[in-house]
Amino acid sequence: MMTSALPHPVARLPEEWLASLSQIGERKFRASQVFRWIHQHGVLDPSAMTDLSVALRAHLQGEGLGPVGAIAHQHTAPDGTIKAVLRLGDDASIETVLIPMRLEYHGPRDAEDTAAPELASIGDADLGAIDDEPDEEDVDDGTMERVTQCISSQVGCAMKCAFCASGVPGLRRQLGAEEIVGQVLIGRSLLSPSQRLRNLVFMGSGEPLHNYEAVARAIRLLTHRQGVALSRRRITVSTVGLTDGIARLGEDFEGKVGLAVSLHAADDETRQALVPSNKRWPLASIVKALAAYPLPPRRRITIEYALIEGRNDRLSDARKLAKLLAGLRVKINLIPMNPVDHAGFMPPAMERIQQFRMALVDAGYTCLVRKRRGDDISAACGQLVTRLAPRGKP
Ligand code: SAH
Repeated sequence: MMTSALPHPVARLPEEWLASLSQIGERKFRASQVFRWIHQHGVLDPSAMTDLSVALRAHLQGEGLGPVGAIAHQHTAPDGTIKAVLRLGDDASIETVLIPMRLEYHGPRDAEDTAAPELASIGDADLGAIDDEPDEEDVDDGTMERVTQCISSQVGCAMKCAFCASGVPGLRRQLGAEEIVGQVLIGRSLLSPSQRLRNLVFMGSGEPLHNYEAVARAIRLLTHRQGVALSRRRITVSTVGLTDGIARLGEDFEGKVGLAVSLHAADDETRQALVPSNKRWPLASIVKALAAYPLPPRRRITIEYALIEGRNDRLSDARKLAKLLAGLRVKINLIPMNPVDHAGFMPPAMERIQQFRMALVDAGYTCLVRKRRGDDISAACGQLVTRLAPRGKP
């Protein structure tokens, strides 16, 4: 059958719908109609696509169009962060997190924050950056609460970073583009009428550049004008540093998709012990790939650095980092380690985090400490893990 080469219906771009629907004699405008049902309205059930003919709805059903996942559990933290566990068709489950950006929050929240350094939120990756690409979606009147969604790119992860729960079970399987987009469609449906999905970060489970094709397709779908219509610069791909993937992403999206790199150390020996993939992609090769990334003017690459007490938090580490990144257009996000069960890693004391930050600020870098969100519902960085509980059992 000719259509067998086509992607899953939810992963099909309008031009692919055009090709497949014209084969069955449908008129041209049906392609964008179907695409808009799925991606703009989030309707995945053909029987609810009321302005299509019964025959076309049956055809779509036959093509396998339907929900790509269902919410198995949903938790909301006191700060409004929502974690949703989605069960996929084959019973694998993945997690996605919605993080409201409370713009009114400025002050310290608890004792630990009293020495509050400048805080960054996930997805503020480009806060303050001015870009040449007009952001048509941004014409809200400021009353809508902006939400950042953190999505997964794989079930499990092959990278096995020492401090991250997502890698513990290893890589279970890749996600299809339809499952990546499906997280966004479901996530969007959980928002209140006063909230708006604004940023997307590939910081859930998985290494996005280890599933490049599906991730790139998902970005094309999510940025399509007739779909969710996110702006490319509001999407951030976070990677452990797969250099060939960084080059491809830069080329395919002209550097407009945000890039975040999980460095966590400034020398290969320290990094190797934390991030095993450093053996294949050592720091020098990553720095080279970052220098070659075709960043638009006034945009910066985000360097993620998880601070772990006694491992990578010395002032000498900060100075080494400053030296390593010299000449690159970057800003640094320090992430106080979120404790996970399997590793004994702890975050340094706030004072030490401050000192580390100041060393980088003094060296001329923009350096923020990431606000901790969602850790009370195990939704913080590194706490997302695929639970393999049988259906119905949490
Ligand atoms: N594989 C990608 C994206 C997933 S993780 C990557 O490595 O970038 C998103 C971020 O959370 C990464 O910077 C990751 O290193 C960080 N992270 C993982 N576990 C963490 C933990 N326990 N505490 C703090 N940050 C963690």
